Amino acid sequence: MSLTYDPDAALAPLEFAVTKNLAAKSPAERDALLAAPAFGTAFTDHMVDICWSVRGGWHRPRVQPYGPISLDPAAAVLHYGQEIFEGIKAYRHADGSIHTFRPDQNGRRLQRSARRLALPELPVEYFLQSIKELIAVDGAWVPSGEDQSLYLRPFMFAKEAFLGVRPANKVAYYLIASPVGAYFKGGAKPVSIWLSEDYARAGKGGTGAAKTGGNYAASLLPQAEAYEQGCDQVVFLDQDRNVEELGGMNVVFVYKDGTIVTPQSDSILEGITRDSILQLAADRGHKVEGRAVSLTEWREGVASGDIVEVFACGTAAVVAPIGELKGTDFIDEQPLGELALSLREELTDIQYGRREDRHGWLVRLDEA
Ligand SMILES: *Cc1c(COP(=O)(O)O)cnc(C)c1O
Repeated sequence: MSLTYDPDAALAPLEFAVTKNLAAKSPAERDALLAAPAFGTAFTDHMVDICWSVRGGWHRPRVQPYGPISLDPAAAVLHYGQEIFEGIKAYRHADGSIHTFRPDQNGRRLQRSARRLALPELPVEYFLQSIKELIAVDGAWVPSGEDQSLYLRPFMFAKEAFLGVRPANKVAYYLIASPVGAYFKGGAKPVSIWLSEDYARAGKGGTGAAKTGGNYAASLLPQAEAYEQGCDQVVFLDQDRNVEELGGMNVVFVYKDGTIVTPQSDSILEGITRDSILQLAADRGHKVEGRAVSLTEWREGVASGDIVEVFACGTAAVVAPIGELKGTDFIDEQPLGELALSLREELTDIQYGRREDRHGWLVRLDEA
């Protein structure tokens, strides 16, 4: 058996069996849900699933009515957390067409996450096909309001009923979708960040670089602590007191000479929003660096005026300026500038088709 996907092997497209949802929402019900979508609370009428087994490889690709999954209570994911996911959006352009953003990057990252979690690697072609299949039946769910999109959530988990500890021999891939508006209420207003001193989200050699539920499970208690402190989000440090990232967003620092620096380490999730923002900044002539940034460099840089802006970024919230860093014995006001919001605007203009897509990042979803 091989868990490794050979990118050079020619792949025939999957033949999805489509079962229409007979209880699909009416256009009026759907429009009501699309009018003011709260993040991740409403879902479209259908979902995609593909099975994987050691013997059969990827098989039984289906589009079926959205609904509960039946799972054996001994399914490995429920005990050992062998699970990974992705987050990507579909955007409606002014002409009605539907596009997604750099899906090859999400597909490849799902493969890297799979490797780390000893799950099978879904071919990137199948990943993209799953998105197109869902949009083919649920395209009407892609909202057209300002800052609205259809959030796509691909995920994969160990479904084999077996309490022994080893990679599961049976796995399921699913794709569900949820219409969303702006992630933070109040738009791109600056967020306050709680510095987690007692907890880490990841460690050296751990799963920090994989998009896996366990990392989020580890971040929930410190995130609750952040709320208690009146903060919106939590930032994590590594064992050397270098800045890692927020629970689900990367961090970017802007220096007064225009240099843009983002923390880099093996335990940070490589964000596609971050990569795109840094590319847009480089196109504008900014010097861009990925390297370790210590907490001391952050605090002293802000105090001296060397750091002129700090922001967080990720698919769900796009770009969020950081307005405050709070620790157990300090509160540092963060300088606010124009760059974060200007890069956010450029990126969303590309995603919504309002500006030329010069890097070829968009992929149209609503035609063959
Ligand atoms: C998904 C995620 C991000 C952001 O990645 P994007 O590709 O930009 O959405 C950052 N950090 C963590 C931990 C994540 O799970």
